[in-house]
Amino acid sequence: MTRREVAQLIENMGGRILITSHKNPDGDAIGSALGWFNFLRKLKSNVKVILYDEVPYFYDFLPNVEKIVSSKKIEEQFDWAIILDVSELSRTGFESISARNSLVIDHHATANPQSTFAIVEPSMPSTCELSLEIMKLIGEELIDYDVALPIYTGMVTDTGSFGYSSTTPQTLRNAAFLLEKGINPYTVIKNLFERNRVTRIKLLQKVLETLDFALDGKIAYITLYQRFIEETGAGIEETEGFIKYPRSIDGVEVAVFFKEYEAGKWKVSLRSKGKVDVADISRKFGGGGHVMAAGFEYAGEGGLERLKEELFKVIESALFQ
Ligand code: 5GP
Ligand code: MN
Repeated sequence: MTRREVAQLIENMGGRILITSHKNPDGDAIGSALGWFNFLRKLKSNVKVILYDEVPYFYDFLPNVEKIVSSKKIEEQFDWAIILDVSELSRTGFESISARNSLVIDHHATANPQSTFAIVEPSMPSTCELSLEIMKLIGEELIDYDVALPIYTGMVTDTGSFGYSSTTPQTLRNAAFLLEKGINPYTVIKNLFERNRVTRIKLLQKVLETLDFALDGKIAYITLYQRFIEETGAGIEETEGFIKYPRSIDGVEVAVFFKEYEAGKWKVSLRSKGKVDVADISRKFGGGGHVMAAGFEYAGEGGLERLKEELFKVIESALFQ
């Protein structure tokens, strides 16, 4: 669908509206969900945000964040479900969502929407920015501080603070537009990056101890074992951003973070510096994402050793093809 068609669809939505996003919500998921919630509250009488996982504490500065419901199940019936930053129902965490119609707004190249309606723009750096463009078509005057702050936050997190190559001139124009709504950029940066818990730094220490290399230093990888969580008291969501350390090393083309989220079950994050498409690699393992940032889950018999072997072989052939 085009942005204009989506804008019209949203304007005409009636009844009970659910807003949701992916499990382990990041800034783009939370920002787009709250941005739409604060925007639609002015137009619709019945709007609710439900996410599968809890919102990490450092997003507590976002207006109306306390209205987000975390629940492992959606019992209610909705007329509409707006599904943000994700296309596959399985990645919302929910077994099912009971809604007459659904609309996906996403920016993943690997998107495979199962909804009744969808807009997927892989060239957009964030779902928040795509959402902002649609909101402007509905009514620029409805974009106040409470809408602008979460949208700006998601734009910051998904663009690496406006540093990734996905950032466009229009992204910065949009950021300027949002700053004019009264946002202090340091409020966002301080909350996102300068409120670490000591447990996170202790976990980082342990994870960095595992740093290792493959393919002559072209792959750098770090590993989180379940026992690190027990030893530090940190939550697994506190690992957000750890992958920047292996990525930051000179000569590294692909950074990998193996996270044992349950005994024998691995969540794998991949980051590229441009030579290989890690979304393509993740797709081979049943996952997806973007060219430069992607991931998948793995629960194979052979465990971590087998996973490394298989993954590094795929990365090698992508690097030297
Ligand atoms: P992260 O490594 O920060 O968890 O995720 C990086 C990017 O890869 C995100 O855009 C995310 O949507 C995507 N991604 C991560 N894990 C998965 C997965 O298991 N399946 C799919 N389809 N995408 C994923
Ligand atoms: Mn996103």
